[in-house]
Amino acid sequence: MQDASAVRTQKLYYKDAYQTSFSARIISADGRDLVLDQTLFFPEEGGQSPDRGILAGCTVLDVQIRDGEIHHILGDPLPAGLTPGTEVSGEIDGPHRFSNMQQHSGEHLFSGIMYRRFGLENIGFHCSDREVTLDYNGPLTAEQLQAVEREANAAIVKNIPSEVRFLYGEEAKTAVYRSKLDLSGEVRVVTFAGVDACACCAPHVARTGEIGCLKVVGVQNWKSGVRVNILCGARAMELFDRDHALITGLSRYLTTSPEEVFGLVTRMREEKAALLTRIRQMETERLLERVGRAEATDGSILFFEASLEQKPAREAVNALASRAGKYAGIFIGNDREGYRFIIGSLHADAREAANLLKQAFNARGGGQPAMVQGSVKAAEAQIRTLLSTVHT
Ligand SMILES: [Zn+2]
Repeated sequence: MQDASAVRTQKLYYKDAYQTSFSARIISADGRDLVLDQTLFFPEEGGQSPDRGILAGCTVLDVQIRDGEIHHILGDPLPAGLTPGTEVSGEIDGPHRFSNMQQHSGEHLFSGIMYRRFGLENIGFHCSDREVTLDYNGPLTAEQLQAVEREANAAIVKNIPSEVRFLYGEEAKTAVYRSKLDLSGEVRVVTFAGVDACACCAPHVARTGEIGCLKVVGVQNWKSGVRVNILCGARAMELFDRDHALITGLSRYLTTSPEEVFGLVTRMREEKAALLTRIRQMETERLLERVGRAEATDGSILFFEASLEQKPAREAVNALASRAGKYAGIFIGNDREGYRFIIGSLHADAREAANLLKQAFNARGGGQPAMVQGSVKAAEAQIRTLLSTVHT
C-alpha cells in the first residue's frame, strides 16, 4: 500500500503490460481531473497516444503525466462521495492497448534494424489511432526500406522475448542502447536480444511474435530525412482487407485480373483523352460549318455552344463579325452554370455589349471595341433578348 501523500503515481503498466483492470486510491479529484496512487492507464508520452477506458464508472478521455503525476481526464463528472482516499476501480481498453504495444514494439525492431544496417537514427515517433509514423535523420532508398521491413518481419517470426531493465548512474552512462539522451536518474531500457535496445517509457509485447506482422504503408521526404508510416498486427490486416476488397472489386467491375487493372485503366484514360480530342475537333468543324451558313444581318449573330475551345471560338467570332451589323458573339456553357463569351464587332463597339451584360446580369469581362471576352450567369433567352439579336 502506497502512502496517499506520494506525488508520483505508481505505473502498474510497468509491472504487467497485459493487465487491464485495477483498483487504486484517489489522491486528488479536481473537477474531471483525477489523480490516483497507482494506475494502469498509460499517459500520452514518448509519441504514443494515451490508453482509453473506464475509471470509477466514467469514460477516460485523456491521460497526461506531469512531474510523475498521472492525470486522468474524465468525460463525465466524478460521482458524488469520491474524495481523496476512496478506492476506485478502473479498466483500460485492452485491445486498444495491445494494438499500441504491437505498433510500438514493431517500431523498436524497425528502428533498431534501420540504425544497425544504415546508420539512420529514429528522431521522431508518433503512434495515434489514425497512423504510426517514424522519422529518420537521413535519406533512404526504396530497396533499403524494403530490406528493413523484411528483417523486421524475420525478427517477428523468431519470437524474441522482450526484456525491460531500469539502469541507474554509471550503468546508464556506459550501457549501449538507442535514444541515449542526457537523462538523469533512472533509464528504462527495452531490449529485443540481437535486434534492438532502446530507452523507452511505454509498455511492450512480451515476445516479438505477438506483433504479428509489420508493413510499411507510406514514405515521404521529411526535413533532411524520411518519414515512414508503418502498421503492425491487426491494423496491418485491416489495411490489407480494405485494399484487397478494393482491388478485387475493381478487377471484377472491369472484368479483368487484379494484375491487369493498372494497365487497363491506363489504356482507358488514353482512349478517353483521344475521344475528347476527337469530340472537340467535331464540335469545331460543326460550328465553323454553321458559321459559314450564317446570313448577313443588320443586327447581331449569336451562337450558344455547350463546349468549345478558345481558339475556334475566336475564329468563329472573326468570321461572323463581317456579317453582323452589330455584334457577333459565341457563348460557351449552359443556362444553369452560365456562359463564357467572346463578342466581336466591326460596325459597333463590342464593349457596349459587355456593358449591357454587366448591367443586366453582373457579367465579368471587357476588352477592345473590336472584341471583348468574359463570363455571364444568365439564360440564353435572356441574353438574346438583351442583345436584341436575330435568332440563329
Ligand atoms: Zn519506444
